[in-house]
Amino acid sequence: SASLRLDRLLANLGYGTRSQAQQLLRAKRVRLDGSVVDDGSLRIALTPDLSERMSVNGEKLDPPPGLALMLNKPCGVTCSHKEAGPLVYDLLPPRYRLREPPLSTVGRLDKETSGLLLITDDGALLHKIISPKNHVPKRYLATLESSLRGDEAGIFASGRLMLEGEEKPLLPATLEVISPTSAYVTVTEGRYHQVRRMFAAVGNHVVALHRDRVGGLELPVSLAPGEFVGLGVAEAAAVV
Ligand code: URA
Repeated sequence: SASLRLDRLLANLGYGTRSQAQQLLRAKRVRLDGSVVDDGSLRIALTPDLSERMSVNGEKLDPPPGLALMLNKPCGVTCSHKEAGPLVYDLLPPRYRLREPPLSTVGRLDKETSGLLLITDDGALLHKIISPKNHVPKRYLATLESSLRGDEAGIFASGRLMLEGEEKPLLPATLEVISPTSAYVTVTEGRYHQVRRMFAAVGNHVVALHRDRVGGLELPVSLAPGEFVGLGVAEAAAVV
C-alpha cells in the first residue's frame, strides 16, 4: 500500500503545516506502536489500522486517507465547500477541513433534504457511486402536501416521465405508498431536485424529503441528525 513521510502524513491529516508537524514530533507528542517517533522523514505505510497504532497528543490518529463517512444530514445545511451558511463540513471535526486529499460529498442533497449522505476523500469510490452508468438506487421518504391520486407509481415506473425543462425522460423509478401523503421513492439518477420535481410533475408538492438508503447502505435509526459514523472498507465497498 501507499506510504508517506511522517511529517507529510501529519500535515495532510490537518494537524498543521509541515513545520507545525515537525514541532509536534520534536515535542515527542507522536507515538507509533507505543514508542515515541520524532523523525519526520520516517516512511509510514497507510494501512487502515494506522489510527489504532499511532497517537498524537495521547489521542488516536485521525483516519488515514481512504476515509468514508456516513452522515445523517440535518435540514438547513448545505453540501458545498463554497457557499455561505452552515455546511455539512461544519458537522465534522475541524481538522477534517484541512485534510489532503480533501473530503467531498458523494453527490448532493438539497439544503432542505435530510438523511443519508456519504462523505469521502476516495475519488474512485466517489465516481463509482455518482457515475450515471452504475445506476446506484437511492431511496427517499417524501412527505406530500396533497393526497396521492393513485396513478403516480405507474407514471414514475413508466420511463416516460419528462421533467419541466428537460429533454430526456427519467429512468423508471419506484414508488411505495406509506400513507395518503407519504411514500418511498427510489431513483437511480441524480438530476437537479429530482424527487421534488417528480412530484411537481404529478401535481403534488414535497413538504419534507429524507434519504434513508444509498445502494446497499441504510441509515441506522440510531444515527441522530448531525451525527456521522466512519465506514469500514467492506461497508464502503458494499455501497455499489
Ligand atoms: N431529490 C430532490 O429533489 N432533492 C434531493 O436532495 C435529492 C433528491
